[in-house]
Amino acid sequence: MTAKILRGRVLTFVSEPNGPDDHESYRYIEDGAVVVDQGQIVSVGEYNDGLKLAAPRAEVIDHRPGLILPGFIDTHIHYPQMQVIGSYAKDLLEWLNTYTFVEEQRFADAGHAARIASLFCDELVRHGTTTAAVYCTVHPQSAEAFFTEARKRDMRMIAGKVMMDRNAPEGLRDTPQRGYDESKALLEKWDGLGRLHYAITPRFALTSTHEQLEMTQDLVREFPDAYVQTHVNESLGEIAFAKELYPNLPDYVGIYEHYGLLGPKTLLGHCIHMTDREMAAMYETGSVAVFCPTSNLFIGSGLFDRDAMMAANVRIGVATDVGGGTSYSMLRTLDEGYKVLQLRGQRLSPLESFFMMTLGNARALSLEHKIGALAPGGDADIVVLDAKALPHMALKMEQVDSLGEELFLLQTCGDDRVVVETYVAGEAAKSKRH
Ligand SMILES: [Zn+2]
Repeated sequence: MTAKILRGRVLTFVSEPNGPDDHESYRYIEDGAVVVDQGQIVSVGEYNDGLKLAAPRAEVIDHRPGLILPGFIDTHIHYPQMQVIGSYAKDLLEWLNTYTFVEEQRFADAGHAARIASLFCDELVRHGTTTAAVYCTVHPQSAEAFFTEARKRDMRMIAGKVMMDRNAPEGLRDTPQRGYDESKALLEKWDGLGRLHYAITPRFALTSTHEQLEMTQDLVREFPDAYVQTHVNESLGEIAFAKELYPNLPDYVGIYEHYGLLGPKTLLGHCIHMTDREMAAMYETGSVAVFCPTSNLFIGSGLFDRDAMMAANVRIGVATDVGGGTSYSMLRTLDEGYKVLQLRGQRLSPLESFFMMTLGNARALSLEHKIGALAPGGDADIVVLDAKALPHMALKMEQVDSLGEELFLLQTCGDDRVVVETYVAGEAAKSKRH
């Protein structure tokens, strides 16, 4: 591993933008340099020849006029659903039962899991994503396969074996005890190894019995620093079913609250149909609402209410949710997020979007000291974008004269093709594979 000096236009956020003109929220360097070594960022600043003199053996990689940003972060995605993406169904429950619960059974085969885990990491890198919070299947071998692949690539990844013991085919059910034992063994083996983190992963209240959620609570008590990831309030049919299964609890978020699963490292996917009480419970526990726009539109689940979440001071992340989601790209995801909020009459400025896919999501994962920003001592997970990569974008760029406009074009028209390079722990990972 040699030191590298990445030269280009450097953009990194320092705080959450307060509207489209909040120039204090980011640092932008027109002729900038990010110096990386041993997988970490050493310095960030103006490019000058002194950098090369100080590190004569460092390789200078000239990405000008590319835009150098922290690698994108995806806070909710299912790696076993790579072959579920684009499946035709009327709603969430039909989609789960017809496609997802059939496909996920194939992950009992460790060979299949290993193949998909590798293709999945390729796909993330191709799209500029360097960290994700990932659901595996109920099979411990699916989590083994994913962690093995992420470790091999030295990626910062969060993942967990799904726990589910009812309302699913037999091949996808564990038991409260098995779910507990398998999760614990995986957590003890992988959490903290390299850049890996474990997420305790009850799929959602519909597929877990009271006994399973009780044993999940035991795990959370034993491992208070582990993540918890699950789904909540995605579709109306799902919510009605959750209420039937847990009639004595006040609401859907209240189920997770009752079993002690809320907290600052808890990621709740979707959070579309929320009550004030539920938002207050999330705020009080520091739990994170994860906005999954392409999935919510594709499955027809509903429109996330970002303003209400912000008014309630609930922490927010944003995610692809592949395979309910339709793209691995965080650019496509924020484009659809923008449209969801337009339909709600809410504003999402390009600065806020790019904050969300980088530092915002790092904060949602409580990992802002490691990822999400270009700062000395942080992980050298970096993406380089080119807003002129496609002819129609290059043409539009003739009329673009501000950073905000360029970011908005990248979000509106960009995808994996605008990602020039993705660095994982300081190593070029996209060009190496394709
Ligand atoms: Zn999901």
